[in-house]
Amino acid sequence: DHAIHIVGGGLAGSEAAWQLAEAGHKVRLSEMRGVEGTPAHHTDHLAELVCSNSFRSDDPNRNAVGLLHAEMRSLGSLILREADAHKVPAGSALAVDRDGFSAAVTAAIEAHPNIEIVRERIDALPQGPAILATGPLTAAPLAAAIASETGQDALAFFDAIAPIVHRDTIDMEICWFQSRWNKGDGHDYINCPMNKDEYLAFHAALLAGEKTEFREWERDTPYFEGCMPIEVMAERGLDTPRYGPMKPVGLDDPRTGRWPYAVVQLRQDNALGTLWNIVGFQTKLRHAEQVRIFRTIPGLQSAEFARLGGIHRNTFLKSPELLDRELRLKSRPNVRFAGQITGCEGYVESAAIGLLAGRFAAAELAGGTMAAPPVTTALGALLGHITGGAEADTYQPMNVNFGLFPPLEGKSKKADRKALMSERAREALAGWMAV
Ligand code: FAD
Repeated sequence: DHAIHIVGGGLAGSEAAWQLAEAGHKVRLSEMRGVEGTPAHHTDHLAELVCSNSFRSDDPNRNAVGLLHAEMRSLGSLILREADAHKVPAGSALAVDRDGFSAAVTAAIEAHPNIEIVRERIDALPQGPAILATGPLTAAPLAAAIASETGQDALAFFDAIAPIVHRDTIDMEICWFQSRWNKGDGHDYINCPMNKDEYLAFHAALLAGEKTEFREWERDTPYFEGCMPIEVMAERGLDTPRYGPMKPVGLDDPRTGRWPYAVVQLRQDNALGTLWNIVGFQTKLRHAEQVRIFRTIPGLQSAEFARLGGIHRNTFLKSPELLDRELRLKSRPNVRFAGQITGCEGYVESAAIGLLAGRFAAAELAGGTMAAPPVTTALGALLGHITGGAEADTYQPMNVNFGLFPPLEGKSKKADRKALMSERAREALAGWMAV
């Protein structure tokens, strides 16, 4: 006797259920915890925070996630309401008492006359109207059902993170700026040259280095070629890295005028140019081993790392290709997706996409449609990125940020841009809500 089935009672599923129920629709909310756990959750509460207790910056004028908070509040978000009610001191960030927060979300949903919570694991795509919000740790049978609907390579199972280095700790006496064959601007990469002996020693160190084990739930999940760890590549053969990310062709070492035997390349990682990631160096090496081994790379002997590499399970769809503008699966439009499984990243973003999925579905159940929020709002910018703005082939999970917003029209000072974008967003959201 429900109008819509929501699978997954995490951040996204709880928010979607709330939005639908508040709009008057009967919801069945299936959550497997209580029957079966996940490797990251510890309780049976809905909207459990699996790691940090922070919703990040609450500043709506200088931070895109703070702006997203504000937009969600004005749309009656349950997640933000309870986060505000369970706030703990954290400077300008919104951090919460995690148990109080998720207990309150659970209580609010349990008490809602339009929502029935069922503790069950769902293994197949629902036939009727549905929202799948099963998160980065979607249970295996359902992940398999999704993959068979979308095609294997449209569902990723890993986040592959390459180490990130502080630019001012790279030795530019040894390294140089150049892109292969001088393509693009000609100087987009920082190159660290290796001679044959250095390469052989480095290859041996990759093989010998101590690795972290995959956790039980990460084993048996296939690698995609694009995120193979550098040490696994090294295991495949002595020259495999040298034909892969360490390929030296088209790169002239200014000190010798020749191509080196191998190179390590770094690519700019932030707009400021202060952080650079090591291209293709996602890895399961232990953190201390990464520091030790990567400092043997010529030019990185004094490198300081802003983030070390890693590989974690994270189930997410190639959404820009698979989902329509309303988060519906193009091949089965009765099914919407919401939360981290759409490829957004973070508690707030997951809840935000849950909020939108709930509202789109509510409009559809009422026989109408809802216009998407303008792309100049945080909600619209995030939605736009997921449903079409991002490059499908290189799609990686993304936090909300001002880089997803369309540039401002006309001239403005760099220091004023975030405030101006926030102001533009507030006006756009108000206009959208008034329709
Ligand atoms: P979830 O909150 O995971 O909710 C999905 C729900 O679906 C779960 O309750 C699960 O039990 C249920 N479920 C799964 N499969 C089924 C099924 N077949 N049938 C029924 N129910 C099912 N983000 C941050 O902002 N800060 C962090 O510190 C942070 N740390 C993270 C740490 C880890 C280990 C992971 C995996 C992710 C982390 N994230 C973090 C990323 C992300 O924000 C969270 O995972 C967030 O909870 C995602 O929200 P969600 O609603 O999409 O998924």
